[in-house]
Amino acid sequence: MTQPALDLVIAALEKIRESERAPRASKTALERLQAGVLAAVSIIATADSGECSAAQGQQVEGGPNKANLLAAVRERVSDCTKCEHLACSRTQTVFGVGNPNADLMFIGEAPGADEDAQGEPFVGRAGQLLTRILKAMNFEREDVYIANILKCRPDMPIGGFGNRPPTPTEMQTCRPYLVEQIDIIQPSVLVALGAVAVEGLLGTRAAMRELRGRWHTYNSIPLMITYHPAYLLRNQAPSEKRKVWEDMLQVMERLERPISERQRNYFL
Ligand code: URA
Repeated sequence: MTQPALDLVIAALEKIRESERAPRASKTALERLQAGVLAAVSIIATADSGECSAAQGQQVEGGPNKANLLAAVRERVSDCTKCEHLACSRTQTVFGVGNPNADLMFIGEAPGADEDAQGEPFVGRAGQLLTRILKAMNFEREDVYIANILKCRPDMPIGGFGNRPPTPTEMQTCRPYLVEQIDIIQPSVLVALGAVAVEGLLGTRAAMRELRGRWHTYNSIPLMITYHPAYLLRNQAPSEKRKVWEDMLQVMERLERPISERQRNYFL
């Protein structure tokens, strides 16, 4: 908050004190104010230590916390009506789940019917497979952070079956929320699941066989691209499972996680 803005707030508070009316604020306003104050504390603490302000949102002792910063974005997302058609058709927005301090963040495409119903990403069949992949890596869902390019389920025609991919316009509209999530979490490694996630994040359209299995970067963060778990559900060949697993082994190596002989040999 700038000094003139602060002066205005102080003047307004003094007026309220003089009038002896009890100040009132909605829960949402209080949460936003709290997140803003916490972020400001972080910036001041960082500036005092001479570091650059890119460290905004990092934990400083007794200071802000990434969970609060994410909560403020979640609140905005839950009210979002930028894509009117999706705001009308969704049951709820699906923001993201997991550890706000995660080293590892997964990015999927968009909520499907199960996620729209439960308000959590990757809880349907593809999500259960993602959870199994995480367990094979010795992670729980709570250890990592999981989000999608789109926070609303792409609408389907009445009587339509299954899910549809997001349109480029929907992805562009929703992308800033994901960018904020990544900026707050600052994971050491990102994993993009499938071609749609790659297009939404990098704007790149290319065949998965060319993209997967090697390191890319998003904003200087190492990014591994691999197949979406839904692809593995459609194509059960051990060779495809092994490809995804090899990508995850690279992720574990990058994170300096211990890898057992048994883990190295999965799906061989
Ligand atoms: N597929 C995705 O990409 N995201 C989900 O949340 C569920 C399925």
